Amino acid sequence: MMGKIGGFKEYKREDESNIIVKTRVHNYKEFTIPLKEQELKKQGSRCMDCGIPFCHSACPLGNLIPDFNDMVYKGEWKKALEILHATNNFPEFTGRLCPAPCEKACVLGIIDQPVSIENIEKNIVERGFTEGWILPQPPKLRTDKSVAVIGSGPAGLSAAQQLNRAGHTVTVFEREDAIGGLLRYGIPNFKLEKEIIDRRIAILEAEGIIFITNVDVGTNYDIKELVAFDAIVLCGGASVRRSLPVKGINNKGVVQAMDFLTQQTKQLFDSPIKGEIINAKNKHVIVIGGGDTGSDCVGTSNRQGATSVTNFEIMPKPPVKRSETTPWPFWPLQLKTSSSHEEGCDRNWLINTKEFISNDKGELTALKTVEVEWKIIPGKRPELIEKPNSEKIWPCNLALLALGFTGPETNLSEQLGLELDARSNYKANNYQTNVPHIFTAGDMHRGQSLIVWAISEGREAARAVDIFLMGQSNLPTKGNGDLLIA
Ligand SMILES: Cc1cc2nc3c(=O)[nH]c(=O)nc-3n(C[C@H](O)[C@H](O)[C@H](O)COP(=O)(O)OP(=O)(O)OC[C@H]3O[C@@H](n4cnc5c(N)ncnc54)[C@H](O)[C@@H]3O)c2cc1C
Ligand code: SF4
Repeated sequence: MMGKIGGFKEYKREDESNIIVKTRVHNYKEFTIPLKEQELKKQGSRCMDCGIPFCHSACPLGNLIPDFNDMVYKGEWKKALEILHATNNFPEFTGRLCPAPCEKACVLGIIDQPVSIENIEKNIVERGFTEGWILPQPPKLRTDKSVAVIGSGPAGLSAAQQLNRAGHTVTVFEREDAIGGLLRYGIPNFKLEKEIIDRRIAILEAEGIIFITNVDVGTNYDIKELVAFDAIVLCGGASVRRSLPVKGINNKGVVQAMDFLTQQTKQLFDSPIKGEIINAKNKHVIVIGGGDTGSDCVGTSNRQGATSVTNFEIMPKPPVKRSETTPWPFWPLQLKTSSSHEEGCDRNWLINTKEFISNDKGELTALKTVEVEWKIIPGKRPELIEKPNSEKIWPCNLALLALGFTGPETNLSEQLGLELDARSNYKANNYQTNVPHIFTAGDMHRGQSLIVWAISEGREAARAVDIFLMGQSNLPTKGNGDLLIA
């Protein structure tokens, strides 16, 4: 029998606590304080082993959640790790950074706090690394096939690991100076310490995957050279940033969020930086965009010593509790307050920026905004209405544009003759593009998304490539796990 009967009645959900704000904002380190083993077992025991585990179906990877919860409850950490790794190549990333759709769908969430699935996941994999259980698993046999993976984010890395496990010789090309994609130079160090990525890359290298950095395929590496590979998997992400085409956008001090975040992480690791240094110290910072990237800019600005940090969002403030329009088990429309917001930030909703105001040297001094509302017209897209006489001037020396991404770059699609879909993502049928030996996965294929989806797509694409190369595949499908591999 699985689980502890009535565990959820006996124990309340406990989450990790954080190092206090005034200490943690003085460095870029992760700041969570792990729960003790005994407490983690209790948290595992809260799982009811539901007949229909909604957590499992909500997870893009099909993680076998009730199974590993039970193993944690029983103290069988090594078995828990095997179950977790069966469906997820990199639980150390999702265990820290996933918005956890599984928890939003957990049946316990109907009447109580859901099981703390994400934290259990993180602790299983960290235990695995501490105990030395996570070791390279090179393939027993090599095929004579070679695969190029372009892009080393979570999609490229999971595709590479799966294809390598199937015995193919895999080369990963990355244009940055280090492996990891947005895990490396998008997500700040205080959310994911970069040693966590290095630790996993060392395993992948030992398994036989070849990593080549500082190579921008199609720019400083001739696309024709890819002819040496039997198959290609494009995992280049969706990095075309959205801008805000209003007066003053080119003023000094109006900066894309990604340039700001990338520079900060590069500085921590003495990696060469392109362009002028951007720093929030002693500045009034306004972050435009209320999503995850915006939140990361808030946390980074506070660590750099901003005088004030303000956040604008054009959408209405979501309800504090799950909205009735998104009942369980759907992904909830609900106010999200991140640890970065808690560190200090004036959050404003229903605000639109009209102008970036500068001094006569072209340096940003203020932002002009208006208040807006959304008019709902049945059957049509909501219309943005500006409120009359609501203009406001906000002092500002650094404006960070965190407005999302419009889609992937098209350099590769143009040179390789690949079709795009209606949303300008790389078009594919079961991850295969219109050129049969070229596949695509992750944000490049689905548009700006999540780490968990990138890992999932990388795994699925790897299976599609394996079938293309070999006519069949032993690589797992979603939720079935690597346990299928001999
Ligand atoms: C600031 C920020 C914070 C985020 N926070 C979270 C979070 O907390 N949780 C979450 O789940 N998701 C988060 N995301 C989203 C998540 O990071 C992405 O969905 C995920 O990284 C996509 O993975 P990917 O492998 O498809 O692409 P990416 O991670 O974008 O990797 C693509 C890689 O391809 C390389 N590349 C592109 N073209 C070429 C070429 N021609 N030659 C060689 N290399 C090339 C790029 O340099 C890049 O390294 C965040 C995103 C951002 C921007
Ligand atoms: S839905 Fe929640 S309680 Fe049910 S099996 Fe999944 S984690 Fe356990």
